[in-house]
Amino acid sequence: MGTPYQRVLLKLSGEALMGDLSYGIDPTIVDNIAEEITEVTNSGVQVAVVVGGGNIFRGIKGAASGMDRATADYIGMIATVMNAMTLQDSLERKGVATRVQSAIEMQEVAEPYIRRRAIRHLEKGRVVIFGAGSGNPFFTTDTTAALRAAEINAEVVFKATKVDGVYDSDPKTNPNARRYQSLTYSHVLEKDLRVMDGTAIALCKDNSIPIMVFSLAEKGNICRALMGEPIGTLVGGSCEVS
Ligand code: UDP
Repeated sequence: MGTPYQRVLLKLSGEALMGDLSYGIDPTIVDNIAEEITEVTNSGVQVAVVVGGGNIFRGIKGAASGMDRATADYIGMIATVMNAMTLQDSLERKGVATRVQSAIEMQEVAEPYIRRRAIRHLEKGRVVIFGAGSGNPFFTTDTTAALRAAEINAEVVFKATKVDGVYDSDPKTNPNARRYQSLTYSHVLEKDLRVMDGTAIALCKDNSIPIMVFSLAEKGNICRALMGEPIGTLVGGSCEVS
C-alpha cells in the first residue's frame, strides 16, 4: 500500500517515553515506539523525530523552585538528549540506521544540528532524532518540532499525545465534549486549545504545515497516523467536529 507522505516529523513528548512511571524512561514503551517507527521507515516514509524531556526535567518547574530560568532550560534541553539517545539505541537494535543531531554541541554522543546533513540522512532512509530542543532557552520542544519541520520541509507534524485528538472542552470533565476532526490554526490560537504551545502553532500556520494530533495510548497508532489513517485531529484544515 502506498503512503501519502514522503517526509514527516514526529513529536514525542518526554512523558510519552515514561509510560506509567512517574519519572524517567520505560524501556518497553520506547521499544514499542521504536518498533512502529521502524515499520513506517521500512515502508519508505522519511521520519524525523523531535523528543521532549518532560519525563526528566522541565525548565519552568526548575525556575518555579528558584533556579535561574535559562539554566533550568538548558538542563531541560540536555534531558532531551538522553531521551534521543535512548530512542536511537532502541531503533538501532531493530536494524534501523539513525542519527541523533543535537542543537547543543556534544560531539562525543551526537552530531551537531546541521540542516542539510539532516536532510541528507533522511534521503538515505535514516531516522533523524533531533535532541536538545532548539538550543535556546525559553522555548519548548513543540516549537522545536514546528521549526525543524519547516527547516527540513516535512509535510506534516505528528503530535503524539495522551488523548485521541482535540476536543471543544475537556473530555475528562465534560462527557459531552466533542472531538474535532479538523480545525484551523486560528481557532486553536483563539480558543487556547492546548494542542501545542502558541509559538509552535503560529510557526506551523506561517509555513502551512498541518499538525496531526493523535493518541499514543493505543498500540499501532504511530503506524496508523504516519501511514495516513485519519485517526486524530488535523490542525490546518477547516473546522469540523466528528
Ligand atoms: N527546552 C528549551 N528550549 C527548547 C526546547 C526545550 O529550553 O528549544 C527545555 C525547557 O526547559 C523544557 C525542557 O527543555 O521544559 C523539556 O522540553 P519540553 O518541556 O518541551 O518537553 P516535553 O513536554 O515535550 O516532554
